[in-house]
Amino acid sequence: MFDALTWDDRFVRGLPGDARSEVFPRQVPGAAWSPVRPTPVTAPRLRAWSPEVAGPLGLPASPSPAESDEIARVLSGNSVVEGMTPRADRYGGHQFGNWAGQLGDGRAIALGEVVDADGTNQTLQLKGAGPTPYSRSADGRAVLRSSVREFLCSEAMHHLGVPTTRALSLVTTGDQVVRDMFYDGHPAPESGAVVCRVAPSFTRFGTFELPASLGEEDLLRQLVDHTLTHDFPHLGTPRDDQHRRELMVDLFDEVCRRTASLMIDWMRVGFVHGVMNTDNLSILGLTIDYGPYGWLEPYDEGWTPNTTDRHMKRYRYGTQPIVAQWNLSRLGGAFHVLVGDATMLEASLGSYAATIEQELPRAWLAKLGIGVDGIVAEPDRRLVAELHEVLSSTEIDSTIFFRSLPDVATLDRTATDRSLVEPVLAASYAPDEITGDVLAGLAGWLRRWRDRLDVDDPRATMDAVNPKYVLRNYLAQLAIDAAEQDDDSLIAELHDTLRRPYDEQPGRERFAEKRPEWARERAGCSMLSCSS
Ligand code: AMP
Ligand code: MG
Repeated sequence: MFDALTWDDRFVRGLPGDARSEVFPRQVPGAAWSPVRPTPVTAPRLRAWSPEVAGPLGLPASPSPAESDEIARVLSGNSVVEGMTPRADRYGGHQFGNWAGQLGDGRAIALGEVVDADGTNQTLQLKGAGPTPYSRSADGRAVLRSSVREFLCSEAMHHLGVPTTRALSLVTTGDQVVRDMFYDGHPAPESGAVVCRVAPSFTRFGTFELPASLGEEDLLRQLVDHTLTHDFPHLGTPRDDQHRRELMVDLFDEVCRRTASLMIDWMRVGFVHGVMNTDNLSILGLTIDYGPYGWLEPYDEGWTPNTTDRHMKRYRYGTQPIVAQWNLSRLGGAFHVLVGDATMLEASLGSYAATIEQELPRAWLAKLGIGVDGIVAEPDRRLVAELHEVLSSTEIDSTIFFRSLPDVATLDRTATDRSLVEPVLAASYAPDEITGDVLAGLAGWLRRWRDRLDVDDPRATMDAVNPKYVLRNYLAQLAIDAAEQDDDSLIAELHDTLRRPYDEQPGRERFAEKRPEWARERAGCSMLSCSS
């Protein structure tokens, strides 16, 4: 099955690799990748599969039991077939604002690139397949809980229309992995797992930062040329140094635009990445590296799911667009090494800020059923700002709020404050708080919003951008709990539900409910660590 795919590893062919193949932690100067074979596991078993990712690669949509066994063997890393060129990529990154030097794929091993049905090269990458030269002191493995989360969320994001790396498979290894989940001195064994991720490229901002920081200009040039030629072919391939400088300015501008659009999507759907280090930002503007991410439940701009970041809250929901800009400026700094002149790079950063400034309010207005052509006017900006104040004044589930809002639009114009807020009460985690000033604030805002609407029933346009089904943190945890007991039915059902996140899907309403009280403080449901 896998040896019949069209393997074509342009990354390995086109870029300098590590001359050594031994796996021990080390610096790997001058290389873009290191050859490394996955470390075999004891009893690989296929637990989840994405037919829509498999099909275009030339893999079966519904594998037979024998095919599932083969998939488990290959996508755990136990068998490396003809055509594969397993490698770990080298990159650096700024972690929580500090330059961290060489990081690299410490537990990800790309098997190679497969040419898909559209003729696009797709890299198949195993996450959790064993140590590499970039593993530092860690084991190169991943646990079932984080792998279920990555599998489901990658696919959920795709179906929400948010650019992301995809997940092809989830395989358990049959081995135990020891993790101290909250770094509090309580290490415990957990089930090991491997997710096969798929993307046209896993190149990160940090891929360019590392050679730039070390004066490896040849490597930097080669990485830029490779990225331009294969990932941004519409921009062109450099003919000479001057041409490269021009194309790098275009490339940076496009990365800024894609990143702006990604941030707006994250804000729109209520996704909090949790670890927006520059090694976790994709040059293609994809959501990448699902770790301690989370979904906004009560609307709270200050919320982060990542316990490691609970004091600084650097990567909280509300700051994501600003952090992305900071990250882009680090990428711009790396490009500057070759471009030489900062003017144009700074102009793109300026456009990024201007785009967020215009497009983010526009996206919020779209969520409110208000389409705006051209510049977003001041009263509309105020309506959005006031909405955020109202949503922050009490605990309101943002996903449910936007799905129930159309019911307010169709109420009688003489409705009292109480009856006006009635439809959105289902979104409240503290309905008792909705009295007095809170009630007046909410009802006042709902009136202003309704007066601004220029259609009688905005439901269809609103439902098309406000998902009903997102991967609520506690739902992922329930799927993990079941999977730990060998029951994959909830993974399958969530996977399927999240394929049509904007549809009503009668019979599946339980997946669109508010977070239950028990999940408020439970690990995995409201707080997560980087330990995965
Ligand atoms: P992250 O913040 O999860 O993207 O990880 C940052 C860096 O740590 C990357 O270089 C990862 O490959 C590496 N890393 C994370 N977990 C492990 C692990 N269990 N074994 C080896 N490397 C890891
Ligand atoms: Mg990472």
